[in-house]
Amino acid sequence: MDKVLKHLSSGRLLRFVTSALILAIVGMQSVALWRSYQETWHDGERYTANTISVLAGSIKRDFLLVESSLTGLAEALREPTLMKLPAALRQRVLFRRAGDAHDFGVMLVLDAQGNVVFDDAEDDLSAINFADRDYFRIQKESPDAGVYVSRPFVSRLASAEPAIAISERLNAPDGSFAGVVVATIRLIYFQQLFERVKLPPGGIIRLTRTDGTVILRYPSTDGRGNVGDSIPPDPSPPQGAGAADDWWVETSRLDGERRFLRTAYIEGFQLAVTVGLSARRQFRGWYFRAAVTLALTLTVSLLLAMTVSALATSLRRSREMERQLERMAITDSLTGLPNRRALDLTLDVEMQRCRRERRELAVLMVDIDHFKRVNDTHGHTVGDAVLAEVAQRVRRAACRPGDFACRYGGEEFVVVLPETPSEGVELVAERIRAGVAASAVVTQGLAIEITVSVGIAVQRADDGPGELIARSDKALYTAKRAGRNRVARLETFAA
Ligand code: GH3
Ligand code: MG
Ligand code: MG
Repeated sequence: MDKVLKHLSSGRLLRFVTSALILAIVGMQSVALWRSYQETWHDGERYTANTISVLAGSIKRDFLLVESSLTGLAEALREPTLMKLPAALRQRVLFRRAGDAHDFGVMLVLDAQGNVVFDDAEDDLSAINFADRDYFRIQKESPDAGVYVSRPFVSRLASAEPAIAISERLNAPDGSFAGVVVATIRLIYFQQLFERVKLPPGGIIRLTRTDGTVILRYPSTDGRGNVGDSIPPDPSPPQGAGAADDWWVETSRLDGERRFLRTAYIEGFQLAVTVGLSARRQFRGWYFRAAVTLALTLTVSLLLAMTVSALATSLRRSREMERQLERMAITDSLTGLPNRRALDLTLDVEMQRCRRERRELAVLMVDIDHFKRVNDTHGHTVGDAVLAEVAQRVRRAACRPGDFACRYGGEEFVVVLPETPSEGVELVAERIRAGVAASAVVTQGLAIEITVSVGIAVQRADDGPGELIARSDKALYTAKRAGRNRVARLETFAA
């Protein structure tokens, strides 16, 4: 656990783990948002597909009904005995199949000049000519126009309602143009049909000719169904009856609304019916959800990052403090040298290592001569400064890697010299002594002459740290007795 915490507080791992967590949160939220976006999209797709299939089916059924009535009318007209029938019976024979088609508008038979020959209208149409209507002209000009659905127009009947017409050509026995049969469909019929659809806000339904002429738009932007407006014709009407194209996005010229549109073509009648949903309204809920999710995700990520960073800082600080305490526990505060505790930790390990590797190891016990006098003469502050300076001189004299100098206590220092042969040990001891004696210690305007005595002990096979230190102390005692400011070892004596 401690190791894990240590790794975490090292920063890089913590940053990595936190970033991974935040990435995971952001990733999960993005996937959820993406799925709800797709669901919203599919909802719209399903809605438009269902609506368009019902509408196109209903419109096509009605057009087929009207077409079959027209065909019936044309057949009846070919009956040679027709004109011999009494007028009332002839009327019934001609328009007997009109049935429901009658509800959509009127049926007319026009002669080659566009005058009304027969009709099922209640008005008197004898004075009206229809030669200028597109459903008349097209049939007159092209013998194979077939069933033709006209552009929308305003009826010349008393009702003056907007309507469209379906026409078929009548041929004379020699194939020349003999007139047309026409059935009109009042646009109110489509209006009522579209009103029955419960469109969501912003939605539209549009009936157009495939040349782009609007027959009716619901709801309209001009209050009159936008009848006769022109929209760009669809560049690629799909093949097949009532085939519902994929939906596409378009910004309306009329109301500026961006919509998803789906169109179905009504085969045989050059018509298209389109259902559109407002993109803005369809995705309004989703946008709200996305904004809330984004805000929450950002907040959570930020809080997480801040918490983790605070945690890391406090972990790092506590580790630093720990290290500092550890350092302080083995450092002497006055001289900055390692203390006796540090010696205890080092000496035993070094002695064992040198014994194992059959290397020599020596210990120097360094003691300031007549130090009590310094204190007594100049005071403890000066004494402390002298101690600190002597400590530095001792440390500088034992400078090889592996050499270890510490304050042993009072004005005594111990130097451990691993892997150092006898001559080398004496050299270092002498360097310490000479280094201290070389120049006076200058402090607080005083120049104080200082000397040290050094006792040497070399590790023996059965030594423990205690014995070795004790022997170095004994050697030091020898040096003191011999007059101080000198190096001594128990076995031989070096002045
Ligand atoms: P000798 O040459 O025999 O070593 O004489 P000495 O006076 O150095 O020896 P002694 O052991 O009699 O005195 C040691 C003195 O060191 C006693 C004390 O006043 C001084 N001393 C020990 N530790 C400190 C310290 O941390 N600061 C100061 N200023 N003096 C200290
Ligand atoms: Mg002493
Ligand atoms: Mg002393």
